[in-house]
Amino acid sequence: MSRKYDVVVIGGGPSGYVAAIRAAQNGLRTACIDAWQNRDGSSSFGGTCLNAGCIPSKALLESSELYHRARHEFASHGIVLEPARLDLAKMQERKARIVAQLSGGIHALFKSNEVDGRFGRGRLLPDNRVLVTARDGSEETLVADHVILATGSTPVELASAPFDGKFIVDSWGALDFDEVPGRIGVIGAGVIGLELGSVWARLGSEVTILEAMDQFLFMADGAIAREAQRQFKRQGLDIRLGARVSAARVEDGVVRLAYDDGQGAHEIEVDRVIVAVGRRPFTDGLLDPLAGVNLDERGFIEVDDECRTSAPNIWAVGDVVRGPMLAHKGSEEGVMVADLIAGRHAEVNYSVIPSIIYTAPEIAWVGQTEEELKESGRKYKVGTFNFAASGRARAMEQAAGLVKVLADTDTDRLLGVHIVGPMAGELLAEAVVAMEFEASAEDLQRVIHGHPTLTEAVHEAALSVDRRAIHAINQ
Ligand code: NAD
Repeated sequence: MSRKYDVVVIGGGPSGYVAAIRAAQNGLRTACIDAWQNRDGSSSFGGTCLNAGCIPSKALLESSELYHRARHEFASHGIVLEPARLDLAKMQERKARIVAQLSGGIHALFKSNEVDGRFGRGRLLPDNRVLVTARDGSEETLVADHVILATGSTPVELASAPFDGKFIVDSWGALDFDEVPGRIGVIGAGVIGLELGSVWARLGSEVTILEAMDQFLFMADGAIAREAQRQFKRQGLDIRLGARVSAARVEDGVVRLAYDDGQGAHEIEVDRVIVAVGRRPFTDGLLDPLAGVNLDERGFIEVDDECRTSAPNIWAVGDVVRGPMLAHKGSEEGVMVADLIAGRHAEVNYSVIPSIIYTAPEIAWVGQTEEELKESGRKYKVGTFNFAASGRARAMEQAAGLVKVLADTDTDRLLGVHIVGPMAGELLAEAVVAMEFEASAEDLQRVIHGHPTLTEAVHEAALSVDRRAIHAINQ
C-alpha cells in the first residue's frame, strides 16, 4: 500500500520543515520525513541547526559570554562579585531544554498546519516514490506529485585526524563536553572553529586554532577580518595561520597534533581536538540511481536557480545544493519551492544573503567586500564608523569594532555593509532590508535612527561614505 501526497519533503531541518509548512499553508497535502537521531536515541525535527548546530551553540555562546563578562567586565561596571563560578552541568541542561522546546515547537507547527511529520529514512525511488524506512526496519512507500530533497550536510572528516567521539570530535561533540578541557586544539578557523573556540576559551580552556590558509577569514572584508583577528588575539585565542594539520595521535589521554606551517613541522599537545574544516552535502543512501537526480563533482545535488533538480518535479534545497551552507538561505529556498509548486511567483535573491559569525564581538556582513569590488573594477565609495564613538556601545562597555559601508561611486547604490562589533548580526538586518530594496547610501543617511542605539553606527558609516559623519572626523 502506498500513500499519496501532493508534496513529500525528505529532511526536517530548517530548509525541509519550513518548505513543508509553506507547502501545507498553500493547501497542499504534505509529509515531512526525518531520520535525525539524538545521542539518547530519540528522534526530533530541526536537523543539525536545531539539534546540533545553530541553536545549542548560540545557547552556549550566550552562557559563556555572560560568564566571561561576570568574571572580567562586571568590575568595571562597579559590580563586585566573588569570582563567578561555573556550573557546566546546569549550562548544558539549559542548552538541552532550549533545543527540546524548539523541536517541540516544530511538532506543534506541523500539527496546526496539518503536515504529516514522520520519523524514518527517506529514499527517492523512480516515479516520484519515496521509500520510508523506520528505525524498527518497517517500510512504507509514499507517492507524491512533488518531492523536495532537504537532507543537509555533515561534518568533513580529516584522514589525518579521524573522529573518535572522545578526544577528536566534530562540532556536535564539541557542544557536549561535560567538563571544560584544559587545552583544546581546533582545526579550522572558519565559522565553527571560531564560535566553538570562543565558547570554550571563555569557559577557561586554552584554545589553539590551526588554520591551513594564510589569510584569516578570507571570505570577510579585509578591514573587518583584521579587526576581528585583533580582538580574538586580545581575548587570548591563539590562531595560527598557514598551519596544515598532518597527524593527530592519542597517547596517554592527550592528543599530539602535528602540523606544518611552511617554516617546518610542529607539534602541540592538547586534551581535546575539535575538527571544523567544513561540511559536505549529505546524500548517503538518498537517491536510487534510476531516480534521475544528478550530483555535481563535489557531491551537491545539481539544481537550477529555482532549485529544480535534473528529474521532473524533484526539487532540492539547503546545504545539499550549491550556495552558502546557512539555515536562512535553506529556509528561503524551501519557501520558494513550496510557492513555485503551488503556482505562485517566488524567487531567492542570492546576492543579498546575510552572513553572521556569533563570536564576541560578532561579525556580520551582506553584499560585496571591498576586495571583491576592487577585483571587479567597479568604482566604489567607502564609509566607516568605529563603535568607540557610539554612546550606546560605550555604555554597554562593548566599544570595539566598526561598521563599513560600500556604495557605488556613480549611482550611490549600496554594495556591501560589513560589521564587527556588538550585536552585529542584529544591526545587519537594516542593511539587508536596504539592499533588498536597492537603497542608496543617501537613503540610509536620511533615515532617522533612534538615539542612543547601536544602529547609529550604521547611520554614521553611511554618512561617512560622503564624508558627512557627525560624530567622527571625516578624512
Ligand atoms: P568553514 O568552511 O567555514 O571553515 C573551515 C576552515 O577550515 C577553512 O578556513 C579551511 O581553510 C580550514 N581547513 C580545512 N582543512 C584544514 C586543515 N587540514 N588544517 C587546518 N585548517 C583546515 O567550515 P566550518 O567552520 O566547519 O563550517 C561548516 C559550514 O557550516 C560552513 O558553510 C558555515 O558557513 C556553516 N556554519 C555557519 C554558521 C553561522 O552562520 N554562524 C555557524 C556554523 C556553521
